[in-house]
Amino acid sequence: MTNNKVHNIACMMCGADLVYDKTATEHTCSYCGEKESSLIYCPNGHFVCDSCHSSDALGFLEILAERDKSLDPKDIADRAMSHPSFKFHGPEHHGLVPAAILIAMKNRGITKPDGSSITNETILEGIRRGMRIPGGFCGYAGTCGACVGAGVATALFLDSTPTKGPERTVAHSATTKALYMSQDGLRRCCKRATYFGLTAAMDLLRTDYNIDLGESPEYRSCKYSTRNRDCEEQSCPYFRGPAS
Ligand SMILES: [Zn+2]
Ligand SMILES: [Zn+2]
Repeated sequence: MTNNKVHNIACMMCGADLVYDKTATEHTCSYCGEKESSLIYCPNGHFVCDSCHSSDALGFLEILAERDKSLDPKDIADRAMSHPSFKFHGPEHHGLVPAAILIAMKNRGITKPDGSSITNETILEGIRRGMRIPGGFCGYAGTCGACVGAGVATALFLDSTPTKGPERTVAHSATTKALYMSQDGLRRCCKRATYFGLTAAMDLLRTDYNIDLGESPEYRSCKYSTRNRDCEEQSCPYFRGPAS
């Protein structure tokens, strides 16, 4: 399909002026991996497909659920958090944690304990459940939506329901681990909370189910601090240093 929609003149990924070619060539979307024929692309090798270009945060997570082939939850989360639809703080992060965990599990061919597959529908349900937790809950309700995302991901992995005692206990345990990390005395940051949620879910899956989803988000690796007016800098374990 030829891409002839009106685009911004700057690359969404790096800000370079886009190339407007005379003939369409095939490019791979930097956000979702979809291949599309397009006249417009970035001279630095970036390309953003029409759906990723125009989607809101929920739509973007749904695209990732269907198309993303990554095996690494941190990589999936970082790609989403660099998409323009993701505000610095906001409930989209509550859907992102289960999405990143479940997408990586699906792509690694990991099945649920009963042998059934993790499907696109499993991921979409994770996104829906996470997004239902309102923004600001961390400060207003004593729990954090991105931390609860760890519970959502494990609840879906185990097919937990309110009447399944052991399964719901594991889901609580995932959220508890994330909230434990979150007891740091700092102002809210949805990037830090996302890393807590991913780390808690990945640790639990590794320890209790022998499921390895790769490296947890590394300390001192945050690339978003300059965008956060409230960044706690050296007090945050993910702060990597002054502006980069
Ligand atoms: Zn670019
Ligand atoms: Zn795309």
